[in-house]
Amino acid sequence: MGYDPAAALLVVDVQNDFADRTGSLYVAGGEEVAELINQQVASAQDAGAVIVYTQDWHPRSTPHFAKDGGMWPVHCVADTWGAEFYPDLVVVDNAIRIRKGVGGEDGYSAFNLRDPESAEQSTTGLADSLRSRGVERVVIAGLALDYCVKETAVDAISEGLTATVIADATRAVNLRPVTEPGR
Ligand SMILES: [Zn+2]
Repeated sequence: MGYDPAAALLVVDVQNDFADRTGSLYVAGGEEVAELINQQVASAQDAGAVIVYTQDWHPRSTPHFAKDGGMWPVHCVADTWGAEFYPDLVVVDNAIRIRKGVGGEDGYSAFNLRDPESAEQSTTGLADSLRSRGVERVVIAGLALDYCVKETAVDAISEGLTATVIADATRAVNLRPVTEPGR
């Protein structure tokens, strides 16, 4: 991807609940992204690019979850197995880590959070962190394409960054696949 110190690799939500077949919000093929992402992490590291890992990190009850009035099965509850990084993912030490949804917000984007009840927006601080390091463009990979990866890319562009999504290193939730009627 041509990394250099003005680039950042954003590794979005490669966590057990999304990437493991037994995870509560398993994304089909999610386990396949780790190897390609690890190659990207190595390239980014070699080139002195910034590396960012995000994690969905929810309280036990949040309007993000269906049981509390939202739309998702319970997933990525703070300090549980489901919220841990998928074990095949290489997590380097000198990286920025962002936890999303900690205060009960919907945490789709790595940049911004949204209160599901008041719709109030707040920031994760990532844009400022990247700007302070001179980052001008981001490369995005991880889970899931149609929610967190997409929202992260849209917000990156809003922040004036150039954004590239590595299509092979992401998979979609596809909440209502056309082949699965009756949901
Ligand atoms: Zn979530």
